[in-house]
Amino acid sequence: MKYISTRGQAPALNFEQVLLTGLAADGGLYVPETLPTFSAEEITAMAALDYPQLAQKIITPFVQDCIPADDLQAIVQETYAEFRHNAVAPMVQIAANQWVLELFHGPTLAFKDFALQLLGRLLDHVLERKHQKVVIMGATSGDTGSAAIEGCKRCKNIDIFILHPHQRVSDVQRRQMTTVTGDNIHNLAVEGNFDDCQAMLKASFADKSFLPQDRSLVAVNSINWARIMAQIVYYFYAAVALGGPFRPIAFSVPTGNFGDIFAGYLARQMGLPIERLIIATNRNDVLHRVMTTSTYGRQPLAHTLSPSMDITVSSNFERLLFDLYDRDGAVIADLMQRFDEGDINFSDTVMAKAHALFTSVHVSDEETCRQIASTWAGCEYLLDPHSAIGVKAALGSGLPPEVPVVSLATAHPAKFPDAIKSAGLDNEVALPPHLSDLLERSERFEVLPNELSAVQDFIATNINA
Ligand SMILES: *Cc1c(COP(=O)(O)O)cnc(C)c1O
Repeated sequence: MKYISTRGQAPALNFEQVLLTGLAADGGLYVPETLPTFSAEEITAMAALDYPQLAQKIITPFVQDCIPADDLQAIVQETYAEFRHNAVAPMVQIAANQWVLELFHGPTLAFKDFALQLLGRLLDHVLERKHQKVVIMGATSGDTGSAAIEGCKRCKNIDIFILHPHQRVSDVQRRQMTTVTGDNIHNLAVEGNFDDCQAMLKASFADKSFLPQDRSLVAVNSINWARIMAQIVYYFYAAVALGGPFRPIAFSVPTGNFGDIFAGYLARQMGLPIERLIIATNRNDVLHRVMTTSTYGRQPLAHTLSPSMDITVSSNFERLLFDLYDRDGAVIADLMQRFDEGDINFSDTVMAKAHALFTSVHVSDEETCRQIASTWAGCEYLLDPHSAIGVKAALGSGLPPEVPVVSLATAHPAKFPDAIKSAGLDNEVALPPHLSDLLERSERFEVLPNELSAVQDFIATNINA
């Protein structure tokens, strides 16, 4: 399988190269040149597979020229054995034809584990074979950092450096990163805000000369192709469990960077009958504005009860635009350049294609709280604020009542106790047993000044792998 850039000017790569590359050299994002497809018969047969078997089936065509089948099998088995539910991604019914797909049974209690547990193992496998070692650098305001650290903690060929804004992430979120110990795990608390951390990351990828010659820099943010690939699997898993492919299903996806929902779009392109994909946003509603006004424009960041969806731009949206513009890289390069300078507008033809599959719903903090409370009242099911946005959007999407809607539950409610309180509930939400002593564990992190050179010097002198 070959991967090409959405901006048309970077070389095509194979899976292994894409895994080790972040942005394409032309500033674009890598996508498969052609997608594998599954027939209705093949999809029907998926009902007999457990989660790791299904993951292997879906992922094989994307990686097969780089990862031998036996190795892939071992990797997916190990990856999903980390999840603390036998079904890996169980479904719960919360109302007539309304389902919740629980994606929070991984080590860090958020859906990012599905991709990052796999990514760490795939990387280590490839590096081992190439006798190569790399440095991963990431910046986090929440879930990504801990999921990346958990995903890489056993990787012999990787040092991982995660920047977080000092004293600006929640206690639970910080501790999920800083209590994981290992010589190759490095938590840097930068005395600045999240944007400062992001800027340091960007500068480091633009000029990698601070690193020793034998190390390359790898990104694990949501533009990494392997993350998207891993997320395709649970769309098939849920749809087949509800009677797919003979019964079209809709999905409602709490959306930030458009990675998770883009995986749903790919599942549909690969043959899964999906009736509709609902883009559920919080107050940071750049995608809802695109869908309702045809204008793609930045607005100031708002801090909401669903912090993992607090973004101003959805980086993976470029991957969808590439398809909507008939895969014309020159058009995308031009659009993105104009977007750097200001708002852009999409044509009626492009918007008609988007509206044919996607619906968007914007959900405020008040509505999020009301949804948490009313789902609890309706069936004693506790939603985290991100998942509540998905459910609220599903209920308000105007789909015909016979279409089952699966809302993706992207985080465990115990990660966001304040939102549960704001919803007027007094439930004590316990962390699951493997994290119950999180607040007593000892932490390790380095506080660094808000200076690029301090961060880069620290990285250069602390590489251990
Ligand atoms: C990252 C995240 C999201 C948003 O996912 P995208 O792929 O960025 O759209 C939603 N909910 C939770 C809990 C997350 O951690």
